Amino acid sequence: MDLRVVGCHGGETPKHRTSAFVLDEKVALDAGSLTSGLDLAAQLRLEVCLVSHAHLDHIRDLATIADNRCQAEAEPLLVGANRATIDALKAHFFNNIIWPDFSQIPSGDQPTIKFVELEPEVPVELAGYKVRAIDVSHTIDTCGFILEGPSGALAYSGDTGPTDRLWEVLNELPDLRALLVEVSFPDREQRLATVSGHHTPQTLIADLKKLTNPKDIPTLLYHIKPVFQREVEKQCAQLKGVNLAVTALEDRFVL
Ligand SMILES: [Zn+2]
Ligand SMILES: [Zn+2]
Repeated sequence: MDLRVVGCHGGETPKHRTSAFVLDEKVALDAGSLTSGLDLAAQLRLEVCLVSHAHLDHIRDLATIADNRCQAEAEPLLVGANRATIDALKAHFFNNIIWPDFSQIPSGDQPTIKFVELEPEVPVELAGYKVRAIDVSHTIDTCGFILEGPSGALAYSGDTGPTDRLWEVLNELPDLRALLVEVSFPDREQRLATVSGHHTPQTLIADLKKLTNPKDIPTLLYHIKPVFQREVEKQCAQLKGVNLAVTALEDRFVL
């Protein structure tokens, strides 16, 4: 598996992009920077975009990638998400006010985007992967994803604070190659992290210890807030008994 980091931050500056990762050039995990971070050819190669939740930093470039793909007459982009996210995208984003309804353009039969509802923990075959959505703990309905392909599995946490089910499912999973997990604020901002449904290094380590063998699983951190980048990185570097790396823009991992 080839994992490309397109955007890995919890905010934006010219040096920080919001969440988007691409697996094997076919599957995007969140859409925070799919057009600001990918050239046109790479945008057109995507088959699926899995969306963890409806917050703007995870959906924003669905607008611009739909526009590009429509003009290029690309195949429909499958947008996989839970019911709440699809409902929010339809009502508040692709609602013919904020942006055109690309699920009906150029036509209902051959649209630019096609929603695929993912029910919690029910596997769906997408772009050659077995994909499962796992509910996590954020301020709105949010899911992480597990993708299983011929060469192993990848897990993505979505935005979450302390949670349980994701770790239970991962403990049952053979051949987990890597885990992408969020951490947003430093420990001293714990109150803010708790009310906004995010991790600090101290809650992250407590959650990772729910894994049977956290040391054996390459754990790639993302969603750090730009204002706190250095402080969070420093605190994460001191965590013991885990296998952590902080992702950076344009990182590529062969898993
Ligand atoms: Zn969020
Ligand atoms: Zn976010």
